[in-house]
Amino acid sequence: MGLQPPSKSPIKLDRRLLGRARAARLALALAVGLGLLGGVTIVVQARTLSRVVGQVFLSGATLGGVGALLLAFLILSLGRAGLAWGGEMAANAVARRVKHDLRARLTAHLLALGPAYARGERSGELANTVVEGVEALDAYFRQYLPQLALAALVPLAVLLFVFPLDWVSGLVMLLTAPLIPLFMILIGSLADALTRRQWTSLSRMSAHFLDVLQGLATLKLFGRSREQIRAIAQISDQYRHTTMGVLRVTFLSALVLELVATLSTAVVAVQIGLRLLYGYLSFEQGFFVLLLAPEFYLPLRLLGTRFHAGMAGVAAAQRIFEVLDIQPGSGDGGEPPAALSRDPGCHLRFEDVTYAYDDGQRPALEGLSFDIAPGEKVALVGPSGAGKSTAAYLLLRFIEPERGTITVGGRPLDGLSPAAWREQVAWVPQEPYLFYGTIADNIRLARPDSNLDEVAWAARQAHAHAFIEALPQGYDTIIGERGARLSGGEAQRIALARAFLKDAPLLILDEATANLDPEIEAQVQEAMERLLEGRTALVIAHRLSTVYRADRILVMDAGRIVEQGTHPDLLQRRGLYCRLVGAYSGEGAT
Ligand code: ATP
Repeated sequence: MGLQPPSKSPIKLDRRLLGRARAARLALALAVGLGLLGGVTIVVQARTLSRVVGQVFLSGATLGGVGALLLAFLILSLGRAGLAWGGEMAANAVARRVKHDLRARLTAHLLALGPAYARGERSGELANTVVEGVEALDAYFRQYLPQLALAALVPLAVLLFVFPLDWVSGLVMLLTAPLIPLFMILIGSLADALTRRQWTSLSRMSAHFLDVLQGLATLKLFGRSREQIRAIAQISDQYRHTTMGVLRVTFLSALVLELVATLSTAVVAVQIGLRLLYGYLSFEQGFFVLLLAPEFYLPLRLLGTRFHAGMAGVAAAQRIFEVLDIQPGSGDGGEPPAALSRDPGCHLRFEDVTYAYDDGQRPALEGLSFDIAPGEKVALVGPSGAGKSTAAYLLLRFIEPERGTITVGGRPLDGLSPAAWREQVAWVPQEPYLFYGTIADNIRLARPDSNLDEVAWAARQAHAHAFIEALPQGYDTIIGERGARLSGGEAQRIALARAFLKDAPLLILDEATANLDPEIEAQVQEAMERLLEGRTALVIAHRLSTVYRADRILVMDAGRIVEQGTHPDLLQRRGLYCRLVGAYSGEGAT
């Protein structure tokens, strides 16, 4: 898995974020277009008002005489409100669309990266990126991005009207306007690091909180709850501290930008006043420009206030793009595999397979070679960290070999479509994950189109039917996340029921290490044996009874096969296997 260097520069991130808005470009164009129209309406409104005031105060017209102009002013005011509302709606649509697309992409990408990636990350931090991180982009797309365009377009539009009427005021405006974005960028660079730190603290807090929640029982057992409360309080304090820092900079920037805008408006007003006094400017012209001056600076001031919301989005986007930049092990291309292991010529073969986690920093497999004949049951044993699960992950195509090949019936596995390949494989992990939902739906995950009779059949095969029937709502009983409300033995049997329902020719079974009570243990063993019948199987074995039953045993150590053979052969060799058996027996495994 190649983690590309994250694009840290805010400009690059801005460009990438803008790319995400491509799908909603019509709505974005509408938001900007309506905002620009609103800007033009302001100019016409100011012109109308200046004419009303000019005619009433200078030409002595009655209010009735300027009725048409007043009506036009009213209509323009309503139109301006309507345009602002429409712009807001369109900007909302942009944010909704981008957030929806990004969440879907992130979820699909995390699924493609698979469990090998998720195992190395903090779940709370990832959840925070997908939920809060994407939400932080709302203000970026709804407020900051349209405002960025409007801050450039509306002042330009205003200048187009002001210059022909009064070029001196136009020039003053043109020279003072860049001061606002200039200060914004200066203060922005100060706030950049702070905003990133704020986002990192929030992610750490989410990750830590989820950790504590998941490890609640362990913490209670070891009497460590208070320490964790203190740790969370500390992280939360750090978050408060960085948030206060961001708020201080936001306040400072709002103050400076307001000051610059007010001073610039004052400069325009003073020079108009002086020129009116000395007769260089007509009242109507002067009044018109005076009305327009605050409106000219308004989009720039608004950009200043929305800039910080935009920066929070950019900080969150950095982590989002980091995750999206990680290349998944395998795409979904490739040919569909031929019907697998029930075909007698269909050997599974690992040839000199090497794999390392963390960008090659943590070697897990070193030139692993073995093969499994169709229908053969192979047990994989070895000390913890030997690479057994990594071999299973490679076979499941959650990760791809760095070197060497895996072939099925002589065809390289990486040439096959991963999704179609996984159709042929049933995987029973050591700690099966049960989702929040009914028991029936949890079993049905293996084959979503199966009916309740088929689900119950699979549960019977796995010795799960009796305990499911005894639950208050039977198969419709809701189980919590991670199978809360089920015992370890019950969860294992649900996982076996899934494998029976899937009825795949290749079985990868990571035997549970937890000891069950003898009666349940016997039921699980019996169900496993039945599941193995007529299938090719790779079993990561943790029990001697499973090892005895295997056709062949592969002994792994430090990422390679160090011994292989049947149980009696290996015992005779008096090598690693022999020592492992001693340890197994010592631990009292069956
Ligand atoms: P166990 O029996 O304890 O489950 P194992 O034989 O299945 O161990 P693996 O889980 O394959 O061993 O791990 C092999 C090596 O790779 C170990 O050193 C482990 O620390 C490392 N490793 C496994 N998963 C990751 C990961 N997601 N990120 C980084 N290193 C990992």
